[in-house]
Amino acid sequence: MLGSDPERTSRASCESAERPTITGVSNVEAEPAELTCTSTPGGVEVLGPRDVPLGGPRAMSVRRTLPQKQRSLIGAWCFCDHYGPDEVRMDVAPHPHTGLQTVSWLFTGEIEHRDSLGVHAFVRPGELNLMTGGRGIAHSEVSTASSTVLHGVQLWLALPDAHRDAPRNFQHYAPPTVTVDGASVRVFLGSLAGSTSPVPTFTPLLGAEITLPAGATIELEVAREFEHGVLLDTGDVTVEGTTLTAGDLGYTGTGRATLTLSTRDGARVVLLGGEPFGEEIVMWWNFVGRTHDEIVAYRDEWQAETDRFGRVEGYGGTRLPAPPLPGGRLRPRGNPA
Ligand code: MN
Repeated sequence: MLGSDPERTSRASCESAERPTITGVSNVEAEPAELTCTSTPGGVEVLGPRDVPLGGPRAMSVRRTLPQKQRSLIGAWCFCDHYGPDEVRMDVAPHPHTGLQTVSWLFTGEIEHRDSLGVHAFVRPGELNLMTGGRGIAHSEVSTASSTVLHGVQLWLALPDAHRDAPRNFQHYAPPTVTVDGASVRVFLGSLAGSTSPVPTFTPLLGAEITLPAGATIELEVAREFEHGVLLDTGDVTVEGTTLTAGDLGYTGTGRATLTLSTRDGARVVLLGGEPFGEEIVMWWNFVGRTHDEIVAYRDEWQAETDRFGRVEGYGGTRLPAPPLPGGRLRPRGNPA
């Protein structure tokens, strides 16, 4: 999904009396609200979620943990929205992306994807759908008729400078479930617990869903050069001695050979990792670039319907216009030193 004008989404009509319609996710805030952030030296930095309301008068909110003031990226992961379970419809009209890859990972529900590469696919629980919108792509996302509850995460990966004009691409992968000390692990990007995703990435990365049964403690071997984030979906989890609340993203810096997770009552988490990105990026609406002027040019091209983004066939409606640019110049963001 993603990224739409808050004014537009607030005007969006609610097509179902039972279930509000999500028409986009906003990431246009110029000054995100301060969040509670606790940090222990050498320990785990708890990145709490910010509730971001979506479209429709009674629409749900998503819980956004990336980007935020304290941290813009974990590896190349630059956007993390966690949503549901909610009884909602999703209907995100064709919108553009540049300089990034999107990862849709569902726990519950089904979403129909169409893009300007010509891909028509269904996003289902436990299956990776990785879309590359380097130079430019457009896509639409609509929940299917049978999908009454949506629960999942929407993640973006920033492309490194050398590859940020990569051509359009779409990869699907349904990872096997491997077991570690009673926990179930699905590795959708990178390698963990002896399972390796065949999907190539532009920077060294890790993405996995881990389900821990009640009372479990697991020790995962991880790459020392990676930083990691543990997003707690449901249940309770303690990461390296720090207990998270549902919706939190627990950040660990580089230099760890293992990550220890434990739970009292059981938990489902998404583990994200990667080598520190090392580049500053400019994120606005659905674009990732490097400068204000570049973002302005992307916006102009979307509005002018140039070939950069192409056309989405088969969506029953009009494309999303770009929101107005903010008054000031967009500033690059990286991580604290
Ligand atoms: Mn999108």
